[in-house]
Amino acid sequence: MISANDPKLKSWVEVPAGSDFPIQNLPFGIFKTKYLSPVAGVAIGNHVLDLVYLHEHGFLDGLGLTPGIFNQNNLNGFLALGRKKGRDVRNRISELLRHDNDELKGHVAAREIALIPMREVQMLMPVRVTNYTDFYSSEEHATNVGAMFRDPKNALLPNWKHLPVAYHGRASSIVVSGTSIHRPKGQIKLPDSDSPVFAPTRKLDFELEMAFITCTETKLGKSVSVDEADDTIFGMVLFNDWSARDIQQWEYVPLGPFLSKNFGSTISPWVVTLDALEPFRVEGPGQNPEVLPYLRSAGLRNFDIQLEAALKPADGEETTICRSNTKYLYWNINQQLAHHTVNGCNIQVGDLYASGTISGPTPDSFGSLLELTWNGSKPVTLSDGSKRIFIEDGDTVVLRGHAEKDGVRIGFGECRGTILPAV
Ligand code: MN
Repeated sequence: MISANDPKLKSWVEVPAGSDFPIQNLPFGIFKTKYLSPVAGVAIGNHVLDLVYLHEHGFLDGLGLTPGIFNQNNLNGFLALGRKKGRDVRNRISELLRHDNDELKGHVAAREIALIPMREVQMLMPVRVTNYTDFYSSEEHATNVGAMFRDPKNALLPNWKHLPVAYHGRASSIVVSGTSIHRPKGQIKLPDSDSPVFAPTRKLDFELEMAFITCTETKLGKSVSVDEADDTIFGMVLFNDWSARDIQQWEYVPLGPFLSKNFGSTISPWVVTLDALEPFRVEGPGQNPEVLPYLRSAGLRNFDIQLEAALKPADGEETTICRSNTKYLYWNINQQLAHHTVNGCNIQVGDLYASGTISGPTPDSFGSLLELTWNGSKPVTLSDGSKRIFIEDGDTVVLRGHAEKDGVRIGFGECRGTILPAV
């Protein structure tokens, strides 16, 4: 077992009940304060631990970390050290935070400076996203969309169970939780007209997704096998793939989504390490027909992560509108990466690979409004009695996720975004 994952560990830093960030989590992120320019930190309870301070004051000695590795506005340099080095650093931070370890706890001045209340920090993009791919790996989601837009009897296209379908997305418009997004405009073809109009989207949607981030670079021409994928993935974040359904429906044939997706995608700010998620591995759904040899995958390669999406009107309360789970994904992350590279496509440090909307088997587990309202035919009722078919101006969507077992809760924090009127 990874020492930092021991369920028995307790920290001298107070961790409130139900916190996403107990000592067994220790996710990495980038933050700034009124006094600090962007630096790397680790979440513990309601605090952020300043890694630059720890590193500069000798608390991380012996790990072979180069000076300045955490004094950056992204984690890419740290990620490039690889999953093994990330594990060493996380294990050392775990030691420093244990209730019976006095090194930092007993050093009052250091403790005061290095531990910053979360309310005093602003979280920033954790990585400079090098490349972004969005998969389509939930059978329930693909089936729902296929049933709505094509044919309920042949909802899945013939390739779907043979390869993890994906498209290349836009890295530049990925933003961190808390960033507002203007309602996009684009071409929309209304049913009663032969030609499109140019207008703000009327069918703005969210997509409940997870994404993994890579920590190695491969050479063009080299493939990463299903087994090798473990060493190339550093961790995961929540991901909201905002989607304009009316723009999407007009533009997506034949090459897939474009302007209906690339106006903005939101990620949660804390990169939860694959190490911290190890105890929550589960088997995925059985795959039938059998996949080609390069996609064969055995063992526990899915994750039991409970997901939810909430919608909050401008002056209203949040209503949870969907509860799903990462374990439903038909294609696991190892298979996604193996397929992505089987042709020799190279991967880079800081690449982000999103799962696609993660829908579960029941109607309350569908991960988008398109599915929850069945393309607008069944409005969702919010706690204040108002109804939604798609997202309105001023609405905020919040994604949350956590894994829980043996009294340990590994959470992702929030992935939050508010929709502003079109400009
Ligand atoms: Mn998507």
